[in-house]
Amino acid sequence: MANPTIVLLRKDFRLVDNPALYHACQDGLAIPIFIYDEADSMGEASKWWLHHALEDFKQSIQQCGSSLVIRKGSRLETIESLIKEVNPTAIYWNTNYEPDIKQQEQLLIRLCDEYGITARQFEGFLLKEPSSIKKPNGEPYKVFTAFYKALQKSRIPAAVPKITKLKALPFSIKTCELNELNLLPTIPWAATIKETWTPTEKGGINMFRQFLKHSIKHYDTGRDFPSKEIDSKLSPYLAFGQLSVRVLYHYLLSKVEKVKHSTFTHQAEAFIRQLVWRDFAYHLLYHFPSTIKEPLNKKFIAFNWKNDMESLRAWQQGQTGYPLVDAGMRQLWKTGFMHNRVRMVAASFLVKHLLIHWHYGAEWFWDTLVDADLANNTMGWQWVAGSGADAAPYFRIFNPITQSEKFDSEGTYIKKWLPELRNVPAKYIHEPWKAPEGVLQEINLRLGKDYPLPIIDHKFARERALHHYHSLKKQTQK
Ligand SMILES: Cc1cc2nc3c(=O)[nH]c(=O)nc-3n(C[C@H](O)[C@H](O)[C@H](O)COP(=O)(O)OP(=O)(O)OC[C@H]3O[C@@H](n4cnc5c(N)ncnc54)[C@H](O)[C@@H]3O)c2cc1C
Repeated sequence: MANPTIVLLRKDFRLVDNPALYHACQDGLAIPIFIYDEADSMGEASKWWLHHALEDFKQSIQQCGSSLVIRKGSRLETIESLIKEVNPTAIYWNTNYEPDIKQQEQLLIRLCDEYGITARQFEGFLLKEPSSIKKPNGEPYKVFTAFYKALQKSRIPAAVPKITKLKALPFSIKTCELNELNLLPTIPWAATIKETWTPTEKGGINMFRQFLKHSIKHYDTGRDFPSKEIDSKLSPYLAFGQLSVRVLYHYLLSKVEKVKHSTFTHQAEAFIRQLVWRDFAYHLLYHFPSTIKEPLNKKFIAFNWKNDMESLRAWQQGQTGYPLVDAGMRQLWKTGFMHNRVRMVAASFLVKHLLIHWHYGAEWFWDTLVDADLANNTMGWQWVAGSGADAAPYFRIFNPITQSEKFDSEGTYIKKWLPELRNVPAKYIHEPWKAPEGVLQEINLRLGKDYPLPIIDHKFARERALHHYHSLKKQTQK
């Protein structure tokens, strides 16, 4: 019997377009393995998703005739002991671009060298490998539009066929029970997350189908309105590799060809553009890995943050007194997700209104988002803070009231997530503190008790933020 190939899985829990697993099974006997290394930084919501993604993928592998091996421990040590156990000829994996993972991959290549084993990495997590898109002078891009144009000119690799059959393992290999990984959180929000998501490969495919059926036709104009639910909600499936971005891309392009309708073409392009933002985030992470902690624009190192912990807690709990911000933060807590427009407003509120370092916001998102993704999260927060690539200029301070009036004019989204405001007339929903006493009495709302008064005055916060940003500018011009 030929020696097997170990397939190391990480964020690629899918049978469709899984190049490492596909090529390993084409080459012979594949041993799919997932190693849970507690040294990996994972938020609680992601752990919840991972548990279910593994449960689902384990079943998928079984249905194809093989078994998913699950182990817990240091990744490299576990692989080394596995090499001794099964004597493989090769180790295959789908590559990832997070700095820690990249580093581990280098060590893995060295380990394979030591044992005389072939190490092969495959691309499949992005549309294009981050180092393959370069400015004509060879430097990485820092402006999205230029990156987007360059990516459009390049060829996006085709997906590999779906895996339907795997050879059964001819020997038994020690494997952990999923529960031994202790991934399921004990905190209260798990129940409502469960009602919101189907964290499986099929769940992702169905979500994409629903998006194509109901939402894509309004995507461009509707995606900014949180109550319209036009956004695809594919982000966790992409983050865990249950959906392949290349499959989405090629499917949409083929549909554009088939439908030949300018409206569909326009909407499909608008959606693809968002997918390219994801590639752009990885491009930045790959070329500027220090941005996880440091501002890309070094001038921001000297920024004078306030970091008031009481305000941070109010923000985390959706108790700032600004309905759109609070609705977003409660949606996040209840479902592990927040609409993109609201993410921008809530994040800007933390960074600019409260002058709290974006690290605190990024950490909270990391812990609570089911789509927590190092590249997207880092880029999103740096963008909001004004310190990242293609960032919002420092003087652009989202006004949480006008944003709310514009994107949730009737307060439908707000009322969904803030039931205590459900009877507030639309006229006052964006600024309940302006409602006359008689109105508040009529709807039985006690501001300061049932719902907080604003923790900071918008005008004051805006001027204070501008003052901080101006002083930074002066300081760094010296
Ligand atoms: C402060 C902040 C933090 C963020 N943190 C994350 C995160 O941890 N994980 C994450 O996946 N996204 C993050 N985003 C980006 C964006 O908000 C989400 O990708 C989007 O809301 C996911 O919803 P969707 O799948 O319905 O998006 P859609 O609008 O349907 O977009 C389709 C896909 O395109 C990609 N995409 C869309 N917008 C962006 C963007 N701005 N940046 C990068 N990729 C994008 C996502 O993969 C998304 O699933 C963050 C944004 C901000 C402002």
